[in-house]
Amino acid sequence: ELYNLVQDLKGNIRVYCRVRPFLPGQRNVQSTVDYIGDRGTIAIQNPTKQGKDQRKSFTFNKVFGPSASQEEVFLDTQPLIRSVLDGYNVCIFAYGQTGSGKTHTMMGPNNPCPDDWGVNFRALNDLFYISHERQDVVRYEVAVQMMEIYNEQVRDLLCSDGTNKKLEIRNNSQQNGLNVPDASLHPVNSTEAVLDLMALGHKNRAVGSTALNERSSRSHSVLTVHVKGTDLTSGDALRGCLHLVDLAGSERVDKSEAIGERLKEAQHINRSLSALGDVIAALAQKSSHVPYRNSKLTQLLQDALGGQAKTLMFVHVSPDQDSYGETISTLKFAERVA
Ligand code: ADP
Ligand code: MG
Repeated sequence: ELYNLVQDLKGNIRVYCRVRPFLPGQRNVQSTVDYIGDRGTIAIQNPTKQGKDQRKSFTFNKVFGPSASQEEVFLDTQPLIRSVLDGYNVCIFAYGQTGSGKTHTMMGPNNPCPDDWGVNFRALNDLFYISHERQDVVRYEVAVQMMEIYNEQVRDLLCSDGTNKKLEIRNNSQQNGLNVPDASLHPVNSTEAVLDLMALGHKNRAVGSTALNERSSRSHSVLTVHVKGTDLTSGDALRGCLHLVDLAGSERVDKSEAIGERLKEAQHINRSLSALGDVIAALAQKSSHVPYRNSKLTQLLQDALGGQAKTLMFVHVSPDQDSYGETISTLKFAERVA
């Protein structure tokens, strides 16, 4: 209870760290993760140096080790999903270097079986389940949008013709709660319908890039679930929304190697991830100025960051020794917003 109270005082921002397991074929590889405590502590060992003083510790709301199941991870996410149906705005982010498990947490593997389902599917399943439970009291309407932010341009991933039209963000102005009114909005009433839409979004994301993985690691993808509830007795309406954000890879690109398009992409990613960090850190510190305007990502999510809104950041860690540098900078980023 005390823990929850502390959470509330901190402005509804929580940070969970998740360490991915070694992949098949990586048996007996030494991990940089030296210790995971049950109170949200993780210690990372510098692989090139020995000794306890070469260990860095970080503390978050929770740390999930390599054996944590998708179900376990979702259990600690579930209360946020319920609050969307109560009229709150919620943002869930996946942060980390490419290959650290962001998409696994948010979506799961390709063509997942229900055990492998990520946060997205489980969240939508819950939304539909709870709205069914409440159907005698509240009538819920659910609609989704799916967008990509690439090089600071917002693109609709669900328009049927797959066009590359750039979209405008309009904050605080829309009666219907839509920040991007020109992105297509798809009413849905089952998890299956959402799965179909996400498959379309996935396909559209590949347009204009040679390899899907390449492109998806350099753009942010935002799945937004809009919920409108109408009280069947009073007729009162409430709105909530859930943004599920699979962020671009956070790895630093070697400036001496990146040129042209690649350098431009890297700069956009750097800038937008630091803008996100600045916004969340400002909210965590209850600063009077929150710099939303510095990136498309924070503009797009403005209504769901701060105020009554709830934020969950999953930060992902690769256990590989080669990833040591990125792991430390990922955890430092997360510590700043925690
Ligand atoms: P990212 O989206 O951060 O680039 P992925 O989610 O694609 O990373 O993960 C990279 C690889 O590791 C994928 O093959 C994925 O299936 C696997 N993986 C990631 N996290 C886990 C996990 N917790 N359990 C099992 N496999 C995982
Ligand atoms: Mg990914």
